[in-house]
Amino acid sequence: MATSTVITNVGELVTNAPDDRPGGAGFAALTDAAIVLEDGKVAWTGPAGAAPAADRRVDAAGRAVLPGFVDSHAHLVFAGERGAEFEARMAGVPYRAGGIRGTVAATRAASDADLAANLRGLADEMLAQGITTFECKSGYGLTVADEARSVALAARMTPEVTFLGAHVVPPEFESDPAGYVDLVSGPMLAACAPHARWIDVFCEQGAFGADEARTVLKAGLAAGLLARVHANQLGPGPGVRVAVEVGAASADHCTYLSDADVDDLASSGTVATLLPGVEFSTRQPYPDARRLVDAGAVVAIATDCNPGSCFTSSMAFCVALAVREMRMTTREAVWAATAGGARALRRDDVGQLRVGARADLVMLAAPSHSYLAYRPGVPLVAAVWRDGEQVAAVGGPR
Ligand SMILES: [Zn+2]
Repeated sequence: MATSTVITNVGELVTNAPDDRPGGAGFAALTDAAIVLEDGKVAWTGPAGAAPAADRRVDAAGRAVLPGFVDSHAHLVFAGERGAEFEARMAGVPYRAGGIRGTVAATRAASDADLAANLRGLADEMLAQGITTFECKSGYGLTVADEARSVALAARMTPEVTFLGAHVVPPEFESDPAGYVDLVSGPMLAACAPHARWIDVFCEQGAFGADEARTVLKAGLAAGLLARVHANQLGPGPGVRVAVEVGAASADHCTYLSDADVDDLASSGTVATLLPGVEFSTRQPYPDARRLVDAGAVVAIATDCNPGSCFTSSMAFCVALAVREMRMTTREAVWAATAGGARALRRDDVGQLRVGARADLVMLAAPSHSYLAYRPGVPLVAAVWRDGEQVAAVGGPR
């Protein structure tokens, strides 16, 4: 039997619903508000004093309620860890795409059960921190069988599964990268497409060039997948151009952009997804979010949770970095971590709390979204609802 929940006395209800917009890049919020959840959806939002009755009542006591975070970029199917590599990097060894190969070896050697357990642990960690929708890539198997089991395991946890066979050329293809592109675009894609919604390619020096990226992405599109691209992370390059050219939903990283790249992003439907945890963890310059936002590009923030370049599952941390290091306003950063992530996944049912949206939401132990950046590193997610059901308990600092 359906039950309804009213969360009332919400100090700030971030809806991202255009009707409520007080200014800011798509951010919208109500104060002294209430929200009603019913059948897994948002049934009503408005002033607390006018809230309808419901089966259950939660008193937010002035706390802020936000849409659940939408993490549009994560690599969660892997085994092992690379703490020693991080330690070496902090001691001065530069990050290179080839570090992925260590995780590939560990992932190939792991059992399905071990991979599934690691994935579930990370997904639980994300949920407890307010991520109610996440994308999950393959890319540490790099054989037909290992990529196929990676996407199949991911599909048990999320509908947003990405086939990333073109993550890096595996050692056994070192002398034949063209042969690996053929494998990815042919038999590997055929084995993975039934479990995936997306295809992705790491278009970067040391990974795949523009023509290789085009070949892989076009094969994926022909197989019914949608495109997203790892672009312009480690230096200037063709990634963003290729992403826009093939109509990708998102170009991710965008750390080194030309004026033409910015124009392409601003004038296309391709979201610029920024992953500031990576720059933090690799001690690289941050992407210029201000330049992208001011140019009119749609910007998302995601964690890029992975064992190599960025092992965080905290969207709150990424929001704080975006505000402090990339000069986004708190409103822009929170929008980018919710509605922006939804745009990067071509979803309009998450990332906002309009009537009819999925009842995925986060209550902060704070009166305003701005505390995510104002109180960095503090576990402010006090409670989480997914599909209208409370899945993480009220906690956090008082
Ligand atoms: Zn990535």
